[in-house]
Amino acid sequence: MNSIETYTREARIAYFSMEIALRADIPTYSGGLGVLAGDTLRSAADLELPMIGVTLASRAGYFRQEIDASGKQIEHPEPWDPQRYASRMQAGVSVPIEGRNVWVSAWLFVLESAFGGRAPVLLLDTDLPLNSAEDRTITHYLYGGDQRYRLQQEIVLGIGGYRMLRALGFSIRKYHMNEGHSALLALELMRHYAYPPEHVRANEPRCDLPRVREQCVFTTHTPVAAGHDKFSYDLIARTLDGYTDISILRTLAGQECLNMTQLGLTLSEYVNGVAEKHAQTSRRLFPGQAVHAITNGAHPHWTGTAFAALFDRHLPRWRHEPQCLMRADQIADEEVWNAHTIQKQSLITFVGDNAAVAFDPAVPIIGLARRMTAYKRPDLLFSDLDRLQSIARKHPLQIVLAGKAHPRDEMGKSLIETIHKHIGRLRNAIRIAYLPDYNMAIAARLVAGVDLWLNTPLRPLEASGTSGMKAAFNGIPSLSVLDGWWAEGCIEGVTGWAIGPATESANGNDAMELYAKLEHIVLPLYYGTRSAWLAVMKNSIAKNAAYFNSHRMMRRYVTEAYIR
Ligand SMILES: *Cc1c(COP(=O)(O)O)cnc(C)c1O
Repeated sequence: MNSIETYTREARIAYFSMEIALRADIPTYSGGLGVLAGDTLRSAADLELPMIGVTLASRAGYFRQEIDASGKQIEHPEPWDPQRYASRMQAGVSVPIEGRNVWVSAWLFVLESAFGGRAPVLLLDTDLPLNSAEDRTITHYLYGGDQRYRLQQEIVLGIGGYRMLRALGFSIRKYHMNEGHSALLALELMRHYAYPPEHVRANEPRCDLPRVREQCVFTTHTPVAAGHDKFSYDLIARTLDGYTDISILRTLAGQECLNMTQLGLTLSEYVNGVAEKHAQTSRRLFPGQAVHAITNGAHPHWTGTAFAALFDRHLPRWRHEPQCLMRADQIADEEVWNAHTIQKQSLITFVGDNAAVAFDPAVPIIGLARRMTAYKRPDLLFSDLDRLQSIARKHPLQIVLAGKAHPRDEMGKSLIETIHKHIGRLRNAIRIAYLPDYNMAIAARLVAGVDLWLNTPLRPLEASGTSGMKAAFNGIPSLSVLDGWWAEGCIEGVTGWAIGPATESANGNDAMELYAKLEHIVLPLYYGTRSAWLAVMKNSIAKNAAYFNSHRMMRRYVTEAYIR
């Protein structure tokens, strides 16, 4: 089954991503982008789409997070061994880096969806005896190193990935670039469709650009500047000397520096953002560029075991067609509440074991877990500790948090420390647990077992956000800022609640809005008539999980981006 021939005849779409969450315990992902890439391939597998993923082996992983007594994040290496999980391909290719040929090999990893589907993923690896000691580390560290290192990784991903697919005999029709990291593959396509130099006159195109563009699909994932890789043309000239013509590159990817997003946008016929609002923001960021919107989705496997059993009983086709969940509002109250109680209890046990905090099953748990970084404002809930305590005295609540900060994101790391200080101050008033080492396994427990999912990003910087969608599969409503997917998913009081209006000028009032909603609307409803709370739970399944799932997302990529 692990033979490449099983897939070479079939795969027509190559999905390139710097990170792909293959499994919870394989550290080839850092956060939302990688989890989304994994869910993309899991849905492709379940829908039997002819798709192959391409990423780096990242043998050294991302990092394992420890948090010390003062709230400081300590980063431990988290290496993994591809040999244990994947099979080495016979093919080898080389890529040009600083005038050397760097050799690239690939592992075939067969990604298995929890629903039985399988999709192939190529893990590119330069850790070969043929390469110098330094070059062997190019594919080791996910988001590690400096600009030079990052560019080398992107050469391996984009150019190496393209060459590897050809060496393995694939005939790919669409190259889907998940974010700008892989955009150099479009340069490789331009070389492939270059006209013979003797036929090219001055000021005429040197390659069949329409052929290149019709094969490229580009998804942008963030309006945050740091999320778009930029390289100086000095660095490009030093690294890719002889491979590319810098003057042409300037016209494609920016005059001042090489912007990988710009390169991907210019060379792709189909471009999309990951939510309606994000597509609008991206059009402002890249004027003149047509940016479509395909709103992200979460894979149905984020459903906890009790709800999965409930759906299997009532809506047996939900795994293949999650839109069947639109009828979840017809399931009896007691059954939904029972499923929730089981999943909540399992989270409570997990929190007791891993954070030594004893949650009370009768008290609502507010969950907040994501990458700890400034624009996500994970500390907003703690802006006014007196106010939070007075709310908790009226309507008891408990809080569970988790999240890693990128090792070089000093703001993100100090947010983790600040949050721990707040937890310390509230020790005798509110039960709060911070689970270390956030990963897919912890995410699965949280989105299955809390009562309310909180998200407080700074508008308009949350491109989509997906953890609230995972919660929706478990009937857990969101209380969130109207940014990213929640601008589409929120029906006030029906699927959950908004924090403030959608306008960017509202950012400064969010803490007050959050406290007011909690105190006057959300918590009173929780402690009021159970059936009214259950109505919101059921609607979050019937209206949101039924739509914001990665099966729907992939069916849209197929009909709008891949088959055109
Ligand atoms: C889903 C998920 C994310 C993304 O969450 P957002 O709401 O998009 O910020 C990040 N990390 C892990 C481990 C996840 O499972």
